[in-house]
Amino acid sequence: MENKNNPKIAVVVPCYNEEEVLPETIEVLSVFILDLMNRNIVSERSFLIFIDDGSKDKTWNIIETAAKKSNNIKGIKLSRNFGHQFALLAGMERIKDDCDIALTIDADLQDEISVVEKGIEKMVNDGCDIIYFARRERKTDSLFKKVTAILFYKIMILLGVDIVYNHADFRLVTKRILQELISFKEVNLFLRAMLPIMGFKSEIIYYDRKERLAGVSKYPFRKMLAFAWEGITSFSVAPLRFITILGFAVFFFSIIMGFYTLFEKFFGHGVVPGWASVVIPIYVLGGIMIFSLGIVGEYIGKIYKEVKRRPRYIVEKEV
Ligand code: UDP
Ligand code: MG
Repeated sequence: MENKNNPKIAVVVPCYNEEEVLPETIEVLSVFILDLMNRNIVSERSFLIFIDDGSKDKTWNIIETAAKKSNNIKGIKLSRNFGHQFALLAGMERIKDDCDIALTIDADLQDEISVVEKGIEKMVNDGCDIIYFARRERKTDSLFKKVTAILFYKIMILLGVDIVYNHADFRLVTKRILQELISFKEVNLFLRAMLPIMGFKSEIIYYDRKERLAGVSKYPFRKMLAFAWEGITSFSVAPLRFITILGFAVFFFSIIMGFYTLFEKFFGHGVVPGWASVVIPIYVLGGIMIFSLGIVGEYIGKIYKEVKRRPRYIVEKEV
């Protein structure tokens, strides 16, 4: 980090229809950074930035009023609801030249802000560039959310996606990371898997997640499912590879079945005329078709990686 003493921190808060909880959130976060400022842990120029993700309620009014009252509060309003990931990105791109450390946190204060200080310490003292805050348990979740969430992380890891288990978008990143993040041009955003592929020194800090302070979740099941799907399809070509393997297996099986059919035809008893000429093409063509589909998929996988235009490498240091 460039500025080790007294880093300037920016707290990025995406908000979608959060009028019920936002006044309290602003209060709590203000007190939180004020305390860090007073104890000289962060710079006095640290600030909060709220991103209104196209809310339909009074969220923007609340942000505007707060920003007028305090020098340490800023706001951005997106033109419509772009979704949590894009609201986060908008905030991070906005502040990338304007802070030393960025903290991203949800507006509902389910996350334990008291662990942030430990994270800042790790950045300043150990030179970490990313601190992932991960949930220790899921006590506050419904059984359904618990099961689907665990399944989600397990499947992601199984498919070879580098993702921090039980980490949502509550994290600290240095300016360095923000600067590098802009070279990721993808439009299918799934930040929590993008950061691990960037590398740099990182650390995971565990915390317990609380209930929402007020209001209801802005992630209904439909959105959660879409989000999980986004994560899988944006970071893994494993499903395509699976088709290739399946095709190869079926093709192999079809050859055996082909020989078996011929054997039955010539040496077996009671074979109906026309049986072999019907059955062999079913096996063989089925195998060839799935296998070919897999090969086409392999190329699509390559095209998909190319069109993402992700950086092929990131230089951390030079001497
Ligand atoms: N959010 C957003 N845009 C959306 C949905 C959610 O900016 O389209 C914000 C929301 O205001 C909150 C955060 O993303 O600050 C996480 O949402 P929520 O707490 O509803 O998710 P949950 O904790 O239930 O998974
Ligand atoms: Mg929440």
